[in-house]
Order: sequence, then C-alpha cells, then structure tokens
Amino acid sequence: MIKLFNKLISSQKKFFHTGVTRSYDFRIKALDSLQKSILKFESSIYKALEKDLNKSAAETYLTEIGIALNEISFHKRHLKKWMKIKKVKSSLAQFPGKNYIYSEPYGLVLIIAPWNYPFHLCLLPLIGAISSGNTVVIKPSEHSAQSSSVIAEIISSTFKSEYISVVQGSVDESTALLEENFDYIFFTGSTQVGRIVMGAASKNLTPLTLELGGKSPVIIDSSANISLAAKKVAFGKIINAGQTCVAPDYLLIEESIEKQFITQFETAVNKFFFEDKSKDAMVRIVNKKHYNRLKNLLKDGDIVFGGKFNDDENFIEPTLIKNVTLKSAIMKEEIFGPLLPIITYSNIEEAIEYVRNFNKPLSLYIFSQSKENIDRILKNCSFGGGCINDVLMQLTNPNLPFGGIGSSGFGSYHGKKSFDTFTHYKSIFKQSGFFDMPLRYPPYSENKLKLIKKILK
Ligand code: NAD
Repeated sequence: MIKLFNKLISSQKKFFHTGVTRSYDFRIKALDSLQKSILKFESSIYKALEKDLNKSAAETYLTEIGIALNEISFHKRHLKKWMKIKKVKSSLAQFPGKNYIYSEPYGLVLIIAPWNYPFHLCLLPLIGAISSGNTVVIKPSEHSAQSSSVIAEIISSTFKSEYISVVQGSVDESTALLEENFDYIFFTGSTQVGRIVMGAASKNLTPLTLELGGKSPVIIDSSANISLAAKKVAFGKIINAGQTCVAPDYLLIEESIEKQFITQFETAVNKFFFEDKSKDAMVRIVNKKHYNRLKNLLKDGDIVFGGKFNDDENFIEPTLIKNVTLKSAIMKEEIFGPLLPIITYSNIEEAIEYVRNFNKPLSLYIFSQSKENIDRILKNCSFGGGCINDVLMQLTNPNLPFGGIGSSGFGSYHGKKSFDTFTHYKSIFKQSGFFDMPLRYPPYSENKLKLIKKILK
C-alpha cells in the first residue's frame, strides 16, 4: 500500500526529535491552549453534536465538553509532580550507586476514535498524550462527521500539524495510518476492529491500548432500593440512547422484584420524557445501519415497556424486553441502543453463572444492600470496572483508571493513568565513578560464591 501519510508522520517525527514537547512549560502551554480553544468553539461543538446525534446542549456539556475540561484541569494541577524524576532504593549489589525512574514520552501517538462520544473520546486520550509530551495524529470517526470537522478545526487552529494533526476519513484512512510506524496506538471502538488494529500494531511491535465494548450486565437483588435502581438504569440506557460503551446491556433481576422494577422503570422514563418521547431531546440512533440492526433486535422476546420507533428520525423508545434466551440475537451482541433485556434469577449464584456465559465485560453494575451478595459478585465476576448502586459514574472520577479486560480491551486511562499510558518509564542505575565492587568479576572462588549467595537471596 502507498504510504499516504508518510509526509505527516515524517514531519511529526522530526518535530518530536527537536525535544520541545518534553518540557513542562511546553506541555502546560499546550493544555492551556486546548482548554481555551474548547471554550472558543463551545457553540460549534453543541451544533455538531446536535446534527450528528440530536444531542442536547446539556447532555453535550455533561458527557463531552465538561468531562474534557475537567480532565485538562486535573492534568494541569498534577503534571509537575507526575513528570518528576523518581529516586528509588538501591540494591546491595549496586553499592554505592543510585537508581532513578525517568518518565519519557513514547514519541508519535495515533489515536483512533469511535462516533458515540465523538468529542470526549478524541479529546480525553489527546489530553494524556499531550501531558506526557508526545506528538499526536487523531483519526475521529466518519459516522460523526460534523463533530470530526469541529475537532479538526479546533486542532488545526490551535496546534501546528507537526505537533498535533487530525486525519478525517474512514476505514481506508485508518488502514493507511496503521501502515505507518507509530510509537503508541490508542484505539477506542469495537472488539472486531480492535483485533485488526492489534494485528497492524504487531507488525512493528507497537505498544497499544484497546478500549473496546461488550455486554455489561446490571444485577439487582431484592435488598436493593428498587425505584432508585430503576431510575438509574433508565438513565444509563437513555443517555446517548444507550449508545455508550459502559451502558447497562442486560438486566439480571431477582424474580420477586421484577414486576416492581418494570413499573418503576416506566415511571422514571415518563418523568424524564413526559408524554411524547419522540419529540423530546433524546439522542437518535447514529445511522440507518445501526437503527435497522436495533429494530431487528426488537423482534426478540416480549416487549413489556416501550418498543415504539420512528423511521424518519432514527428514534427508538427506551424498551424493556422479557423472555429472551442465550440464543436470542439480542444476547449474542453488544446492544448499543435503548433496549434492555430482562432475565430473572432466583439466587445470586445463578446470576453469576449467567454473567460467565459472556466474555469479560467493560462494566458491571450491582444494585444491592447485601454486603454478602456484593462481595460474592465482585470476587466471582471479572470485568473492567463498575458501580455499586449506580451506573456510569465510575467514568467521572479521574482518580479511577478506566479500561476493559479480555475482549473488552486492555490498558486504561483517565487522570494519572493517562499520563502513565503515554509515558515510557525509563529505569536508570547511576554508579559513582570511584568504587568498583570486585565481586561480580571472574575468577569466581568459593569465597566469592558464598558472598554472592549472601547478597542474592
Ligand atoms: P468501530 O470499531 O467500527 O470504529 C472505531 C474507529 O475505527 C473509527 O474511527 C473507524 O473509522 C475505525 N475503523 C473502522 N473499521 C476499521 C478497519 N477495518 N480498520 C481500521 N480502522 C477501522 O467502532 P464504532 O462503531 O465507531 O464504536 C462503537 C464501538 O466502540 C462499540 O463496540 C463500543 O462499545 C466501543 N466503545 C468503547 C469505548 C471504551 O471506552 N471502551 C468507548 C466508546 C465506544
């Protein structure tokens, strides 16, 4: 394949090797400039998200802009401390030398992002890559074209292309970028494309982070506050119309409280959207392909709430579906939409066994007041991260690393973890030039062996 982006990559490599991106002042100035540009382009971001996904200004601020601004502030507050050379203890064999860990940028970073939170999922990794001192190429999604254009405008008006650049396009552009030799790849998207990205990275042994998806369960037991659980699960399914990597995918609920939950879910949705849901500012399904896929999933099981749709607007109501089996199409893929299958269980072991039918999910949510049940689920289910008595909120704290496990991805970011992700920690042992311990050199006498054994045990 012709190397389409060779010129861009060469210019970024050259710029990186000037060393300017490494200084604290440069990184802080870049974070400041990004912060100012986001605020300058705030109204364009609202317009783009409205066109791409029918996202309201409030939801856009909450899930896209606010989260990015908060991350920038966090990095600015802590960067000096994170960048410091760290002195660590020496071993006896190193006497009288000293040991240090230097943090250094990887170099040239590629960020590939999806469409569902088009702004947030480009900007959050970018903030980490900037504070770690890298140069960056961003490939936003073709399915959120308006947002991708605004991101390109923000970046080109704020940074020189040899420092940070946006490549707009789809699979061809993404594939061509993956032909290049980056120093780090940060991919957010589907598990299927994650495999392709990892294959491409393996050619150059490029380290990478994969932020993928999966089927994230919610488990509710009879000790839970049911109305609160229903309200929060409804929120998790409604925000971005369920097109959220950490959205509750399916519900495991104790048999005895199922009916109550359905009633409370209905009450919560009606409170959020009053009468005619289609007229309210609920996010729409991103395109016809996904809309038709979701409409097909409505054919599975029995709808017990919702189920209406509007072909002209790519709108689907928040919908509860009962009587699905592991063979139903809706249980075979990540739903990524406002549909919630309900599965009942009679004891917590059954719920845990059910979760184990699937690959390790990105998130898991527990609604319970039973310490025993909570502990049992946490000990026996493997997943990226999650909440007890809430949904999605694990994302809002930069002190909590965010990432998956197994087929929901590997590596993590947010806050300090973003700095770590884009940083190579270089271990350096510094010996004094005056003393050279003779022990390591041949000839190895019996006495030397005894001494070595004393030191290395
Ligand atoms: P996707 O994998 O289709 O696309 C993601 C990016 O990869 C896009 O920029 C796209 O242009 C590019 N791409 C697509 N096909 C490619 C190929 N063959 N080769 C190279 N690049 C290619 O994902 P999507 O539909 O945009 O997003 C939805 C998925 O992302 C869901 O599975 C969701 O769970 C996941 N997701 C995960 C997170 C997370 O943080 N873990 C966040 C958001 C979304």
